[in-house]
Amino acid sequence: MILSMEIDKFSNWLIHRTGKCLVAGPCSVESEEQILGTAKELAPCDVTLLRGGIWKPRTRPGSFEGIGEKGLNWLKAAGRATSLPVATEVAIPAHVEQCLNANIDVLWIGARTTTSPIAVQAIADSLAGIDIPVMIKNPMNPDLGLWIGAIERVRRAGIKRVVAVHRGFSTHIRHQYRNQPLWSIPLELRSRMPEIPILCDPSHICGTQQYIASIAEAALEIGLDGLMIESHWRPESALSDPGQQLSPAQFAELVGQVVRNPNLGMASRNRESGNLWREIDEIDQDLGALLSKRMSILRQIEADGADGSRISGKTWTKICATRLMAAVVKQLLGAVESKPGECDSGCTQTEARAIETRKWLLRSKTSPCGDSVTTERPA
Ligand code: PEP
Ligand code: MN
Repeated sequence: MILSMEIDKFSNWLIHRTGKCLVAGPCSVESEEQILGTAKELAPCDVTLLRGGIWKPRTRPGSFEGIGEKGLNWLKAAGRATSLPVATEVAIPAHVEQCLNANIDVLWIGARTTTSPIAVQAIADSLAGIDIPVMIKNPMNPDLGLWIGAIERVRRAGIKRVVAVHRGFSTHIRHQYRNQPLWSIPLELRSRMPEIPILCDPSHICGTQQYIASIAEAALEIGLDGLMIESHWRPESALSDPGQQLSPAQFAELVGQVVRNPNLGMASRNRESGNLWREIDEIDQDLGALLSKRMSILRQIEADGADGSRISGKTWTKICATRLMAAVVKQLLGAVESKPGECDSGCTQTEARAIETRKWLLRSKTSPCGDSVTTERPA
């Protein structure tokens, strides 16, 4: 179902010099000098909006938790010096109030906050009657409903300039990324809420500089409206997220290579099938990660000699491999069996027998070593 939102057109209120919205700036505002220096180096790179975190929701206590309210004036001054609007993250109503007092131009709700509807509602209530743009990052967990719910709460508070930010999802599968992109989720958001602009934040997806350009490219290829990229004038000495921040020079290179890439339009022409292939790639990566996790557990079982059991480590490994094969075969046959319209009519005897055999395999109970059969095999 399409949810109509009556959203103000993005390009009406934010000028995108490259045709794409480019939000850039450090993970955290650290000092007056750092935010001003970073802003001055970023401004010539077609940045649309200067970002900087003031209150940092760090996973563990004791790390740098943001410079706090005084940093708002430094951020605003850096914006004024470079003619850029500025944005920061708010997590509680008091942050909203302090941002409004400091004339911050755009607010964003972070991934940890979006995960909590009560926290989002408290922020939405504090925004009632105020006309300020709000960007809403996806929740930490892959739950589109929570993301949509947060957008609705902010929209119901009367905010018409709403933007979604895709920053990846935390899942139990260890991956090359800090947060998995799970592209089908922002794509589903796009089809459910077509009026909402969506930016991609490759910095928090990747967690390292390494993959940022390829994620940024993928985001623009699928038709997202821009990027939010963490950039710091001295990334190696950043007080938060040092590994994933680009220097302004690296940011400029990325804009040149990815945002201004003339082939981008060509890639977007095959968007539909490209999206499906992207999903396949993600599934393959998950399968690879799961199989290697499984392998390392097996190695551990083998090394432990099956923990006092009479069965040797090697036999255990064999049994465990058979379990995998049984599970995989069952899944695969299930996938084939559920193919629509199969053998409704007119299939050959051989095909019919093959299908009966599949059904039999699916019905048969599988022992821990995957080889027992409980019903009579079809002829
Ligand atoms: C950030 O933008 O610095 C941040 C904390 O992001 P997220 O909420 O996506 O983790
Ligand atoms: Mn960060």
